Amino acid sequence: MNISSIKTSSEEIAQEVYQLVYQLYPICRSITGNGVRETLKLIQQHIPLSVHEVPTGTQIFDWTVPKEWNIKDAYIKNSQGKKIVDFANSNLHVVSYSLPIDKKVFLTELKAHLFTLPEYPDWIPFRTSYYKEAWGFCLSHNQYLELNDQEYEVFIDSSLEPGHLTYGEYYIPGKSTDEVLISCHVCHPSLCNDNLSGIAIATFIAKYLSQTTPRYSYRFLWIPGTIGSITWLALNEAKVNNIKHGLVLTCLGDSGNFTYKKSRRGDTEIDKVAAYVLKNSKQDYKIIDFFPYGYDERQYCSPGFNLAVGCLMRSSHNCFPEYHTSADDLNFVQPQYLAESFFQCSSILHILNNNDIYYSKNPKCEPQLGRRGLYQAYNGRPDSRLNQMATLWVLNLSDGQQTLLDIAERSGMSFDMIKYAADTLLAHDLLTIKNS
Ligand code: ZN
Repeated sequence: MNISSIKTSSEEIAQEVYQLVYQLYPICRSITGNGVRETLKLIQQHIPLSVHEVPTGTQIFDWTVPKEWNIKDAYIKNSQGKKIVDFANSNLHVVSYSLPIDKKVFLTELKAHLFTLPEYPDWIPFRTSYYKEAWGFCLSHNQYLELNDQEYEVFIDSSLEPGHLTYGEYYIPGKSTDEVLISCHVCHPSLCNDNLSGIAIATFIAKYLSQTTPRYSYRFLWIPGTIGSITWLALNEAKVNNIKHGLVLTCLGDSGNFTYKKSRRGDTEIDKVAAYVLKNSKQDYKIIDFFPYGYDERQYCSPGFNLAVGCLMRSSHNCFPEYHTSADDLNFVQPQYLAESFFQCSSILHILNNNDIYYSKNPKCEPQLGRRGLYQAYNGRPDSRLNQMATLWVLNLSDGQQTLLDIAERSGMSFDMIKYAADTLLAHDLLTIKNS
């Protein structure tokens, strides 16, 4: 498997991924409801993912699948009947999971249900009340300052009823039943970096991977944050043992440097591969330790599972001012950053898929490379891609202990150069793959 070699240019990927972000942007998503279904339907135009519906009330470890929330309309009208806050203008205006309401309130009562960001007076905050029944509106602080002491009409046409939690799943069978898990959350309304960037990149990684037969099998999940991963883990415990590596994808469309958050174990293969790829990207980057907050890695890395799942981001969770505000919009994410993230992620998967361990079949002294046409001094190196030092490093370190990535790290040579040398030596019957 080498999705880096898929014949598609960076410009094409940039446009494809951004186009999907653009299509998904207007949809009002939450942890349940039709917004998630519409989102999954748009993703199905690219890959045949399956949609799962889990009924309200299903017990999932210490949690229960909540009621399903849907919304059609919402506004605040002033006493002249003018809509001063309108859900039709931005789905961030309503606190997610707001109860239906239709009543007249005076300013003091209204204010208890309003949320603003005084430090960014033009932006609308994103607020939720998933597990406490409430209603509320979010608005820019400038809008808020224009309110005065009068009677307002508040209207929210929402429903909170028994229904389902919806998630998407797509499985790509590989040569091995060992799996790589790629997970992203699908529960935010019109927010691009925190939400849509991960959704769109996961979709196109899945699309291109499905055109190959990867070494590992791949399981992609598009799930509501927290409750979705808890649901999946609770209902699929029997499959969890197959997951050998994983990545949570989020915040991948902004101009910030890459951040990789390590798995709870901290020294797994995915942690090493991600660190190597970022180190070799020739850009500034950050590797951070696991902490039990952030995205669904919290659940995958809970002690009862402790999976090798890290999180790939650009600007990390909560570390950019636009986070969870209306400023995380279609301008904040840009096609070229999405494309870079796509290729960074595919490089990680490429190395993971080729990171074998070998045994030299001639461990006692070097094999005679010259008579096999593999030594520059004798045959003038007929194969220009074959690097002599890479060949010697692979032969020397193929002791059944070290992966190709270990060899690349120790030799200071590129992974692909080391991989090519290993392939060549394998073809000349000088190596065997461990466990194959
Ligand atoms: Zn978020």
